[in-house]
Amino acid sequence: MSRAWIADLPLLADADVCVVGSGSAGSTAAIAAARGGASVVLVEKLPFLGGISTAVLDTFYGFWTPGDAPRKVVGGIADEVVAALRALGPVVERPNTYGAGTGVTYLAEHLKVVWEALATGAGVRILLHAMLQDAVVDGDGRLRSIVVATKAGLGRIVARTFVDASGDADLCAFAGFGFETAGELDPAQTLTTTFRMANVDPARRATIPTTELHALMAGAAADGFDLPRREGSDHVTPIDGVTATIMTRLEPNERGDDGRIVNTTDPVFLTAAEIAGRRQALEYARFLAERVPGYEGASLVALGTQIGIRETRRVHGDARLTRDDVLAARQFADQIGLCGAPIEDHRAGPDTRWAYLPPGSAVGIPYGTLVARDAVNVLVAGRCFSATHDAHASVRSMAQCMAMGQAAGTAAAMAANRNRSGAVRAVDGAGLRARLAADGAILKLAMEPVA
Ligand SMILES: Cc1cc2nc3c(=O)[nH]c(=O)nc-3n(C[C@H](O)[C@H](O)[C@H](O)COP(=O)(O)OP(=O)(O)OC[C@H]3O[C@@H](n4cnc5c(N)ncnc54)[C@H](O)[C@@H]3O)c2cc1C
Repeated sequence: MSRAWIADLPLLADADVCVVGSGSAGSTAAIAAARGGASVVLVEKLPFLGGISTAVLDTFYGFWTPGDAPRKVVGGIADEVVAALRALGPVVERPNTYGAGTGVTYLAEHLKVVWEALATGAGVRILLHAMLQDAVVDGDGRLRSIVVATKAGLGRIVARTFVDASGDADLCAFAGFGFETAGELDPAQTLTTTFRMANVDPARRATIPTTELHALMAGAAADGFDLPRREGSDHVTPIDGVTATIMTRLEPNERGDDGRIVNTTDPVFLTAAEIAGRRQALEYARFLAERVPGYEGASLVALGTQIGIRETRRVHGDARLTRDDVLAARQFADQIGLCGAPIEDHRAGPDTRWAYLPPGSAVGIPYGTLVARDAVNVLVAGRCFSATHDAHASVRSMAQCMAMGQAAGTAAAMAANRNRSGAVRAVDGAGLRARLAADGAILKLAMEPVA
């Protein structure tokens, strides 16, 4: 189909770097690119920044390796985000329910403001309520411009370098660049609608361990409660008496008649998932109030703004991280970050499967996993980076998404500044890693654990 009509659309922005999607990865990428001297436009379909970090969740995982002698594996802008959250109010550090390391639990409403403050402070031009709809690509794989839908109609954005941080790889999909759809080769991760409960007695709740919570779930399910997942977790938040949950479980996709996977990138499927997720959340809230110590006087206080989607598309990059890489804690010459988190596989059915790296170790995240294989000037960051299903199930935590975002944004600025070519393979790798290290990113494991 000819895309000539796109040239006649109003020009919304002409920037060095355009970042699509403002989750943990995209917001960090935009901040890094702007600090790197690029003019940056950040395109986001929601009315606030943060993606899953603000619309679904409240806990950053991935800052440290799990275990008794944790090593810090993410720093830089991610540290600034946590410091800015602490400046606004209490932040809780707490162990992961399944031994996946320490989490940083924050107020999502504060994080919305923190992302905005850091992005605008760096000079990022933010465009909210703006949904990517199309992309114009030259024959050689150079992405020229994108089309976004706004309240004022369609508009176009021109940039030298683009970062696809849409989580769902929408930019690469519209551009026709290669990707794997989750569920094609391995089962895709399930979906979860999060919710929060108020008026919880945390001391009384703490009298039963997680195993007992799961036993209560199994008992309630046997008694007729509709609880498809019997392994969910609840956790304390910075607000006294308020807990947050990751409990519900929905199927991530189905095979269409033509054999293709229908998932949450399909509007009909997504709508049904949102509705079913909220209905399920109410059932889990009823279970908590009726069956779990500490929840006797509690009530549902908030549902996640949108359903939590763990994986949809993973872009084909110049490199592809694998399960073997993760479990061997492999290091790479071009690595731009680290991950010590276990493979956390939320499959269909009642349980979640875990596979751990050797204690205290971390796998490197290669720059090549951020370079869209079929493009000249496109980087990816966050949960749509280039990895197999299993490797993705380890590296998708938000601290790693921020590390990828910082690397992609820094590289994008370097690419856009270099003869204005925007070519992401022309970025000097040693220069990129030196810049990231100078900006606080952690590229190699420290010899000593955190004291
Ligand atoms: C239920 C659930 C529980 C999890 N638990 C944890 C946890 O406790 N701790 C942890 O660290 N990690 C957790 N994870 C994983 C982690 O949250 C995600 O992998 C991570 O947040 C992904 O960040 P991202 O920036 O790549 O994508 P997202 O946060 O999904 O951001 C993508 C952004 O792009 C925008 N966007 C998408 N398409 C378009 C478009 N076409 N046009 C414009 N904008 C667009 C979206 O609105 C969004 O803001 C969990 C994930 C889920 C789903």
